[in-house]
Amino acid sequence: MTVEHVDAVVIGAGVVGLACARVLAQQGREVLVLDRNEAIGTETSSRHSEVVHAGIYYPEGSLKAKFCVEGKIKLYRFMEEHGVPFKRIGKLIVATSEEQIPALQQIQERGAKAGVDDLVFRSHNEVVEMEPELRCVTALWSPSTGILDSHSYMLALQGDAEEGGAMLAFHAPVEGGRIDEDGIELVVGGDGPMVLKARTVVNAGGLHAQPLAHSLANFPVDRIPPHHYCKGNYYTLSGMRVPFSHLIYPAPEQAGLGVHLTIDLGGQARFGPDVEWIDSIDYDVDPARADSFYAAVRSYWPGLPDNSLQPGYAGIRPKIQAKGEPARDFMVQGPREHGVPGLVNLFGIESPGVTSSLAIADHVGDLLTA
Ligand SMILES: Cc1cc2nc3c(=O)[nH]c(=O)nc-3n(C[C@H](O)[C@H](O)[C@H](O)COP(=O)(O)OP(=O)(O)OC[C@H]3O[C@@H](n4cnc5c(N)ncnc54)[C@H](O)[C@@H]3O)c2cc1C
Repeated sequence: MTVEHVDAVVIGAGVVGLACARVLAQQGREVLVLDRNEAIGTETSSRHSEVVHAGIYYPEGSLKAKFCVEGKIKLYRFMEEHGVPFKRIGKLIVATSEEQIPALQQIQERGAKAGVDDLVFRSHNEVVEMEPELRCVTALWSPSTGILDSHSYMLALQGDAEEGGAMLAFHAPVEGGRIDEDGIELVVGGDGPMVLKARTVVNAGGLHAQPLAHSLANFPVDRIPPHHYCKGNYYTLSGMRVPFSHLIYPAPEQAGLGVHLTIDLGGQARFGPDVEWIDSIDYDVDPARADSFYAAVRSYWPGLPDNSLQPGYAGIRPKIQAKGEPARDFMVQGPREHGVPGLVNLFGIESPGVTSSLAIADHVGDLLTA
């Protein structure tokens, strides 16, 4: 097979891959985006909460804190400029007992350190005025949290990338490759099998980023972190409209943010995601898991009727750490980290990946021009 030469390849047309393709195309580079599926954003980027996060949960100095806060500002501006539907509806993080208040105080302090200085405590009475059906002793109010239409956002990213000259190829799985002195060779299968030689490759393969890195001969394998799957199941509310107009989050748990209530732009409520560590990718939502949701949701909304939750959908967090291990940061690996010129690997891009996407992409663009 003849080898086609291309300047830059982005593997993965999820939200992060598309944002990276946009930046590289806007830098005037020739960009080809490869995705093994049939359309943009068919994996984790269409299986999440569609929340623009404020940037308050992440350790000081972490990439998650930095990219989320920067990304939020960039994302709101981008959505305004591109007509992407969103609403800055704000969120209440509730303490349902006195014991949970220190956790909320910690979030407020951590948020302030990351540059989120608009978090304020609302008393029980103030909360009841905002949300009469909510049960809590107090709540932390985050006014900069919002919701977005994430598919419209990805379409807008694709539009910008294509306007900058980027091309997208679907049914184009990268099956392996090799790192050579003069670039990175990629073997692409699917509808139009080909061998590509690229000067630059961005591995934005999401849940598959680690296997992808392993499939590149001559890549230093000791640089590839482990990968684990942590599923988040969602349930929707049937037969009634939810009596809330803001996002409602409990105090966070170890591997996720707790079973929260989000509302989409159409007003549809969903509860989740929960935390289910799994060994292989599987998006089925077990109706039986709803049982634990009733208890979790009723801790802050006692009015949740019996039998009102139905299975919605599931997303899978691409984790670097295993169950029970401390949370890990996003891992953005450029040439300085792994020694391969022109290659960037994006590992562990779980939440807040959508919110952070424009900031991650700018960082990737910088790594590749440095
Ligand atoms: C339950 C859950 C809730 C979340 N909620 C939020 C939220 O509210 N707000 C927020 O900011 N973030 C949230 N996130 C995080 C966010 O969804 C992700 O960070 C983001 O979608 C990751 O995008 P991505 O482009 O890195 O990966 P993906 O969307 O997974 O894209 C990777 C792409 O790579 C392609 N690919 C993989 N391997 C190959 C290959 N070999 N060849 C070609 N193509 C390949 C796949 O087909 C896929 O399209 C949530 C995540 C989960 C799981």
